Amino acid sequence: MKPVKFDYHAPASLDEALALLRRYGGDAKILAGGQSLMPLLNFRLSRPAALVDLNRIPSLAYIEEHDGQVRFGAMTRQRMIEFSPLVARRLPLLREATKWVGHLPIRTRGTIGGSIAHADPSAEYPAVLTALDGEVVARGPKGERVVKAKDLFVTYLTTSLEPDEILVEVRLPATDAGAGFALEEFARRHGDFAIVAIAALVVPDGARCRAARLATAGAGPVPVRLRAAEQILERDGLTDAAIDAAAGRAAELVSPDSDIHASADYRRHLTAVLTRRALRRALRVAHG
Ligand SMILES: Cc1cc2nc3c(=O)[nH]c(=O)nc-3n(C[C@H](O)[C@H](O)[C@H](O)COP(=O)(O)OP(=O)(O)OC[C@H]3O[C@@H](n4cnc5c(N)ncnc54)[C@H](O)[C@@H]3O)c2cc1C
Repeated sequence: MKPVKFDYHAPASLDEALALLRRYGGDAKILAGGQSLMPLLNFRLSRPAALVDLNRIPSLAYIEEHDGQVRFGAMTRQRMIEFSPLVARRLPLLREATKWVGHLPIRTRGTIGGSIAHADPSAEYPAVLTALDGEVVARGPKGERVVKAKDLFVTYLTTSLEPDEILVEVRLPATDAGAGFALEEFARRHGDFAIVAIAALVVPDGARCRAARLATAGAGPVPVRLRAAEQILERDGLTDAAIDAAAGRAAELVSPDSDIHASADYRRHLTAVLTRRALRRALRVAHG
């Protein structure tokens, strides 16, 4: 199938893009890498009156460190993230997550802003944003606002961004030296969307755990921050018993749905298995 007819605009500035969104009053779609939007258009699941293409706005693609955060322009390609020395050093969890995103041609076109704005519940970047308590910057007719990860994801493929807002920047706190990280995923084939994935970060402090961060992909309509599981580790340390207890608690914290790929029970089971695996590997990474 082919898309229904639409107007196409390729603005050269953000202000021009915002004016176009305003002009179409919610009936325009932003085009970033097109890796999720184009299939939706081709299947006619999305029928916007216009596309506003951000690909001619070079100022939206960058990776920089600022005030303890790594900041990404929304149009930064996933492939650029995969090979960024700054990301490898300061956000190794995001680098690892990127390798799980689709295949080479998808990562070459796909953007970090597009992945987060698309809010696929099985996508890796929203899980990392949630685990690390990151935030995005949205620009709209009233100016800019910062939206925390916990306030961004509403349900399947839906965020709290307004139709006339553009996600312009993604901000993630840089990782402490000495932290351990892991993203464990189960998918039918490498490159498929996750059935379940767990993003984990731990900061050991001798026998104790100074901080733990855990979030899911694929275990519900939005990524789930597993705070009660993190608290077990922060209270009891990173012993095998505490890791087992945290993994068991993780499975209780999610409410997955059944679909053609997996039942809700299976996704809950995977949540426990992958949380245990991710924590054990994160601990090994932290110990070098
Ligand atoms: C075969 C295949 C396998 C894939 N596997 C995976 C996978 O394993 N994991 C994974 O995470 N992803 C996967 N993807 C999706 C891929 O990561 C996409 O790149 C991503 O979901 C969307 O990014 P994009 O830049 O292509 O956005 P687009 O497709 O251009 O846009 C997606 C949506 O976000 C909106 N949008 C885009 N940018 C902005 C912005 N700056 N502000 C506001 N709204 C915006 C668009 O209007 C649209 O609604 C796969 C895709 C394919 C085709």
